Amino acid sequence: MMLCVKCKRRKGEILIKSLGKYACPECFKKIIFKRFSKAITINKLIGKKERILVVIKNSNDYVLFYLMCLLAKKHKGLTVYSAKKRVKGLRTLNQENLTDIAIRILTGFLKNKKELLKVKHGPLELLSDYDLETYARLVGLKYEPVKRRGFKADVLELLNKLEKTRIGILYSIKGLIEDIST
Ligand SMILES: [Zn+2]
Repeated sequence: MMLCVKCKRRKGEILIKSLGKYACPECFKKIIFKRFSKAITINKLIGKKERILVVIKNSNDYVLFYLMCLLAKKHKGLTVYSAKKRVKGLRTLNQENLTDIAIRILTGFLKNKKELLKVKHGPLELLSDYDLETYARLVGLKYEPVKRRGFKADVLELLNKLEKTRIGILYSIKGLIEDIST
């Protein structure tokens, strides 16, 4: 039996794609929440007393809402709302995930579109489609990766191929643009 890379006690049954290692469900959930919190902390996305709105465009956005509510339990002064559209007086955060960002940046490079090569920070910037889909399953939510069309679908296919041999490629692509812009 392969043991969880984190607790080294329970069975490692869930692949952490970005590390190429396996964790137990409990530790996997902790890792995802930690990355989510880290993205918020390192980018100073939320201030002391904040009212944040999660825009629910499709059911996937409930995973972000769920994570934000977990954070609000720890972060006193943070209040989280959800609505189908933006609401006056409530701040929203960039809701792109790591896969969205990697596709956008790679598309920007390949098509030479500078407007796509912008650094936009958000709470899901360290979490891929795979991470969110797996996490959602473990906490009983639904998450279906957005169907990318046209050129974006080709870029995603390329990323999926690369990911098999280049562990952490999504982070590398995101990091690349941050290195260039700073
Ligand atoms: Zn574990």
